[in-house]
Amino acid sequence: MKKCALILYLIACLALTGCARRDAPVTRTVFAMDTVMNLTVYGKNGAAALDAAEQELYRLDAHLARGTEGSAVYALNRDGTVIDRETAELLQTSGDIAQATGGAFDPTVAELLELWGFGSGAGEHRVPSQEEIDAALAHAGAKHVHIDGEQVILDLPAQLDLGGVAKGCAGERVEEILRDRGITGAVLDLGGDVALLGSKGSAWRIAVKDPAAEGAYLGVLETDGDRFIMTSGVYERYFEENGVRYHHILDPKTGCPADSDLVSATVICADGVWADALATACCVLGAEGSLELRKTAVPFDVILVTVDGRVLYTCDGFAPAAEGYTYEQVA
Ligand code: ADP
Ligand code: MG
Repeated sequence: MKKCALILYLIACLALTGCARRDAPVTRTVFAMDTVMNLTVYGKNGAAALDAAEQELYRLDAHLARGTEGSAVYALNRDGTVIDRETAELLQTSGDIAQATGGAFDPTVAELLELWGFGSGAGEHRVPSQEEIDAALAHAGAKHVHIDGEQVILDLPAQLDLGGVAKGCAGERVEEILRDRGITGAVLDLGGDVALLGSKGSAWRIAVKDPAAEGAYLGVLETDGDRFIMTSGVYERYFEENGVRYHHILDPKTGCPADSDLVSATVICADGVWADALATACCVLGAEGSLELRKTAVPFDVILVTVDGRVLYTCDGFAPAAEGYTYEQVA
């Protein structure tokens, strides 16, 4: 099922500082990575910078998709090796995140995703047998990915899926391109995952959408620039069989959809790839595990929504806005 809701929805960003800038914002809508993205940039030559940003998004979409013949990930999954600096770096970081999260984030969940029909192609959604799950689990795990300089070696039949870091990587790369072109401020809405570029005199304001109600907001997050605000939600892609809902975030320990106490996890972090992956990992780890992870991984904040209607947040700039939830600021 198509990703149905954008959790993070941008409002009024740059409204305060935008008027102080000489150059009017320029916006662009791009369809990439299976979602609609809205890019807004401030600074001179915004349109030209956006041309480059758009091309980069298309390139990365193809480069990171395991279903795209010719992509580095496609080659790795087929041949077990590839020489590509960009892929090596991304997989190095993915491995670090896998380790930091105790395997809750695992870039080798591709075979399991295929079993459940959350694959790269036209796979049917279905509940696999335990034998199938066990067989796939037997050769999954980040330990099967080896990096040697620009070379990546994958122990086949392990299979990679970079869906959990694609948008974070895209956010990082696009920001780099915009910065190189002199852009001083940008807000990239990558289909509900947001990248903020640029420091400025006053904070950015991002509305965090209520995962349970279309058009409603959990609250507004006020934050500095140069932050990534990435959300994973178990309601984003799913199918139902015999009245049971199965979603697209898998617990690499069980090989089944994560069964934690979280409906969604928003991560606020200075690094895009970490932010993206940590959001996925938090959905697997649950509220307690996510808060524990904050003590050991890179610095990051969370806004967690639990199945029983609690919103746990660690950031100071978050102002609750929705009724029907219990809000709790936690450490
Ligand atoms: P998106 O924002 O693209 O909807 P998420 O950031 O929530 O997706 O990441 C979910 C994607 O990550 C899945 O579609 C799948 O490709 C991959 N994935 C699912 N479970 C895991 C996991 N435990 N570890 C790493 N990647 C995963
Ligand atoms: Mg994500």
